[in-house]
Amino acid sequence: MQGTTAAETARAVNARERSALEVVEEALEHAGRIDGEVGAFLTMTAELAREHARRVDGRIARGEKLPLAGVPLAVKDNMCLRGTRTTCASKILADWIAPYTATAVQRILDAGAVPIGKTNLDEFAMGSSCENSALGVTRNPYDLERVPGGSSGGSAAAVAALETPIALGSDTGGSIREPAAFCNIVGFKPTYGRVSRYGLIAFASSLDQIGPLTRTVEDAALAYDAIAGLDPMDSTSVDVPPQTTIDGLREDLRGLRIGIVKEYAAKSLGASVDAAYKAAYAELERLGAELVEVALPTADYGLATYYLIAPAECSSNLARFDGVRYGLRVEGADMIETYEKTRAAGFGPEVKRRILIGTHALSSGYYDAYYVKAQKARTKIAADFENAFGICDLIASPAAASPAFKHGAKSDPYSMYLMDYYTIPVSLAGLPSLSVPCGWVRPDDAEHEMPVGLQLTAPLFAERFLLGAAHAYEQSTQHAKKHAPRLALGVS
Ligand code: GLN
Repeated sequence: MQGTTAAETARAVNARERSALEVVEEALEHAGRIDGEVGAFLTMTAELAREHARRVDGRIARGEKLPLAGVPLAVKDNMCLRGTRTTCASKILADWIAPYTATAVQRILDAGAVPIGKTNLDEFAMGSSCENSALGVTRNPYDLERVPGGSSGGSAAAVAALETPIALGSDTGGSIREPAAFCNIVGFKPTYGRVSRYGLIAFASSLDQIGPLTRTVEDAALAYDAIAGLDPMDSTSVDVPPQTTIDGLREDLRGLRIGIVKEYAAKSLGASVDAAYKAAYAELERLGAELVEVALPTADYGLATYYLIAPAECSSNLARFDGVRYGLRVEGADMIETYEKTRAAGFGPEVKRRILIGTHALSSGYYDAYYVKAQKARTKIAADFENAFGICDLIASPAAASPAFKHGAKSDPYSMYLMDYYTIPVSLAGLPSLSVPCGWVRPDDAEHEMPVGLQLTAPLFAERFLLGAAHAYEQSTQHAKKHAPRLALGVS
């Protein structure tokens, strides 16, 4: 039954047509068969999965109904799951066992999901392809020579390869939306503060947000409803009661104004990609939306702003990995040398680059010129979005600057950073945003088509509205169903 959605699985398990244990055994068997090729997982948690499945079956037997009963779940390996290895795909945490479970993970498990493993990512979630992982290679299930995107690339690949219907990812500047676009699935980043970050190993705390990657908008809504809400353990989680989104899914877009960004329309991403987005916007109109032009004049400063703020926060957050409390320790002659040797051996090149940039941007004499200025630019970018939402209800744009590229194709950091051109401004503004499959294009270096994603962005806290609209678009287009992953999947 690979390819079953979370909604279908939960229905069948709640109705006792299938047991959670049966579902999870199938998922483990399928993952065992294909993950050697895909490389979505860093750790499988088979025994834990069986234990959880039995617990779910027990609850169902006692008459409980669970929104995600028996749904196999993959968790990005920067989220704590008690008693399992949580590596951030870094050598520095390669053997670190989480002593507690992240709130978002706990909530989705309480809703009946069953954790089958921890997925690969770019080290500490810094990257857009999973190639910065120090612990494994993940391949795009639609073309094994290509990257799955990143940093939640393992989570996206697991869902695309039908290993699990839901994976949790984290998004700091695009890390849920870009891999979702590359892998022909839905990736949803809620408003900053909607989902607790407690137990998510911090990269850039003012941007990090947990969200689901799924094959359908309906499943994203189910997962979001399970994980959202105030958490006393995360002081930035918001005290705005989350609205249930699953009952807000719509079939048309009548009465909606959807903003098309003037500055983005002036840029070409290549003829076939441009055509895919034009067709997507036309479809939004056909579904009843009115398209309006909006301006985001400062969005172009998004990358420069993000690549000061995110490294600044990461340089501070990653200071805790010093060989004393967590993970790897390489002994030196004294304390300072132990720090140096541990960090030199434990962190990969991209992480070191960001720590250096961030430390520089925060240092006295440069703080005002870089960090403070970036904060001001961030405020301007957020204000641009606020103005745009004065005349539209949602903003549509590309999710990524290109379809999935080949492993090794982007050798300099800047060309990798450019992948997140469209997602980063949204993250700086803290807005809820998702990527939904919106068509197929043939990259110049491919014989076949690869998927592209439509990014839809809503005002703060408008998750219900955002998922509702994305559902209408998904249902009318069905782009996700056009091609099967390029694997011997044995889809039934
Ligand atoms: N690709 C971006 C970066 O490298 C975003 C990563 C993320 O969202 N975690 O920082």
